[in-house]
Amino acid sequence: ELAFRGVGLRKIYVTGETEVHALRGVDLAIHPGEIVVLLGPSGSGKSTLLNIIGGLDRPTEGELFHFDTQLTGIAEADLTRYRRENIGFIFQFYNLIPSLTAEENVRLVTDIAHDPMEAREALALVGLSDRADHYPAQLSGGEQQRVAVARAVAKRPGILLCDEPTGALDSQTGVRVLETLVRANRELGTTVLIITHNVGIAAIAHRVLHFLDGQIARVVENDTQIEPV
Ligand code: ADP
Ligand code: ADP
Repeated sequence: ELAFRGVGLRKIYVTGETEVHALRGVDLAIHPGEIVVLLGPSGSGKSTLLNIIGGLDRPTEGELFHFDTQLTGIAEADLTRYRRENIGFIFQFYNLIPSLTAEENVRLVTDIAHDPMEAREALALVGLSDRADHYPAQLSGGEQQRVAVARAVAKRPGILLCDEPTGALDSQTGVRVLETLVRANRELGTTVLIITHNVGIAAIAHRVLHFLDGQIARVVENDTQIEPV
């Protein structure tokens, strides 16, 4: 059983007279509990696919299934519910609310989720138990991103969608963030999808999908999946 199955996904952006073919027929299979990395040049369609999987956007053509549910045809309200219940987003910039502490930022999610973790438990998972009462400005970039990971995992999403999660961080700090994603995968069974330009990050993946020009040009299975170092 697949967590996500995409068949012939196409995305065309129309801006005035111009059409951009961002996805040109993508077939996709993501297994539950996998860490999948999307690698490829800027503009090759990675974010477009992530946004479609996350229910932020819809394909122009093709079908996407989440287990047995076809996402491509469902009503906007159902897509919103799907996104709220199943998806944890992590972006390059942490988007924490500056006037709230780390714990309060995580609480924003746990207060409204269906079956959340305790905010403190989520912060412990990312190694920030001792920073719960700090404000974002009192935290380093890497720590802020780990709070963002805590916020994303706290609602126990089926999948974490990460768009350049270490893009704003130096490599050593980035590794600490990757460790938290691996931990969520191992300890909670969360499926993880990571967009990156960084070939090194591919080492933590079970599978790497190489994007080129709106298509998956190559799939590499990683038998020697390693801890980030
Ligand atoms: P990547 O994530 O690999 O950098 P994207 O999915 O962001 O690639 O972009 C794929 C192509 O689609 C690019 O040519 C980009 O400029 C274009 N694109 C992305 N989003 C939009 C949008 N909202 N409107 C118009 N064109 C877009
Ligand atoms: P980058 O690849 O530079 O990291 P993205 O491609 O992820 O940035 O795009 C960031 C945001 O800008 C996304 O919300 C995307 O939809 C939008 N975007 C990207 N390319 C275009 C474009 N050509 N026209 C309009 N919006 C775009």
